Amino acid sequence: MKQSKLFTKTRKESPADEVSKNAELLIRGGFIHKEMAGVYSYLPLGLRVLKKIENIIREEMNQIGGQEVLMSSFQPKENWEKTGRWAAMDDLYKVSDFSGREVALGPTHEEIIVPILKNYISSYKDFPVSIYQIQNKFRMELRAKSGILRGREFIMKDMYSFHSNTEDFENFYNKMKDVYKTIFDRVGIGHLTYLTFASGGTFSKYSHEFQTITASGEDTIYVDEASGTALNKEVFNDEILLQLNLKREKLVEYKAIEVGNIFDLKTKYSAPFDLSFTDEKGEKHIVLMGCYGIGLSRLLGTVVEVLSADNGIIWPESIAPFVLHLLALGDDETVLKEANKVYESLLKVGVEVLFDDRAGMSAGEKFSDADLIGVPFRAVVSARSVKEKGIELKKRVEEKGKIVSLDELLKIVKSEF
Ligand code: ATP
Ligand code: MG
Repeated sequence: MKQSKLFTKTRKESPADEVSKNAELLIRGGFIHKEMAGVYSYLPLGLRVLKKIENIIREEMNQIGGQEVLMSSFQPKENWEKTGRWAAMDDLYKVSDFSGREVALGPTHEEIIVPILKNYISSYKDFPVSIYQIQNKFRMELRAKSGILRGREFIMKDMYSFHSNTEDFENFYNKMKDVYKTIFDRVGIGHLTYLTFASGGTFSKYSHEFQTITASGEDTIYVDEASGTALNKEVFNDEILLQLNLKREKLVEYKAIEVGNIFDLKTKYSAPFDLSFTDEKGEKHIVLMGCYGIGLSRLLGTVVEVLSADNGIIWPESIAPFVLHLLALGDDETVLKEANKVYESLLKVGVEVLFDDRAGMSAGEKFSDADLIGVPFRAVVSARSVKEKGIELKKRVEEKGKIVSLDELLKIVKSEF
């Protein structure tokens, strides 16, 4: 894509009320636009990143057998009354229409998926089933000061699994731990992300959170580096340490962000709707459930929090908006002609390239925009590089570039992807 055609421009400042690093860099780079506290729109660059994250998650969910759906955001009040959450969930948005009828604006979808499944599941032969979606969620968060880490409208992947027996559930749940690990590895934050024991609420002993270590995190976790085990401060007590076979003095405290979690729901949501099946002997049982969430927008914000420098974002190659940022320096015609040739060659071999072909801009302005936007490779065509019969290629993380030929450039970029 030619940068001269991109309708967004980089900005020197982010909104005055924006205190989080992720929102500041993403707004300045033109990835997102702030509408109000906790509510953001995705612009072309931001949407490209979001779609890449979405595709990684979708591939992994499909791989474990998940079936994708898209459920409604408007949710019947009766369903929420059945589970008791119409009154109990304090961050639920309640919307009323012209007749005064109230509906919930979906913060999560147990109240929708369970009644759907009631139409299709009745026998032990129907299991297991896992269903997921990637969709906007709405929550009346008290504080929305962390940019896209905590939105009032945000994007979540929520999966729900249904099982006829505990063994089957546990198998699936354990597989999901590995799938989540793969996802966080693929988006580039696996090395900072810990499977973390957290309290399970009334129905089960533990849930598992995936916590990414960063100073801006709202949670506190304790990590036992030797075993790679982590636990949330909220569950921290001597009894739990004993159960997990951990020693207090070995634990290191960190701030962290919960990027995902997996939950044993047992019959918490299936029972209120009487979601049941008959076994081989014709006996009736309530269905067992698990749920598995990842906040895509939070994940994107987390990547920015942990993988950026003062002068901009450093996108991992797997989710970068473009693979290569091509800069034409100066308005000299030979330079522009050469840069266009490089651009066409990159497009021809399928490299996703952002081409800074904007006229009347200084080299300094183009360099600082490239740093801010944070594309993994930067290729510069300038009077100097033309004289040296090459292109100056540099990775975002490197200090200095080197002059390479067009063939070498194509080879290097293609070998990395
Ligand atoms: P938190 O404790 O951070 O409020 P939660 O326990 O309410 O999270 P879940 O209801 O389990 O979160 O949602 C699943 C996932 O959705 C979370 O792991 C997180 O990645 C994401 N998420 C939850 N709330 C938000 C939010 N307000 N903005 C962005 N992502 C969110
Ligand atoms: Mg919450």
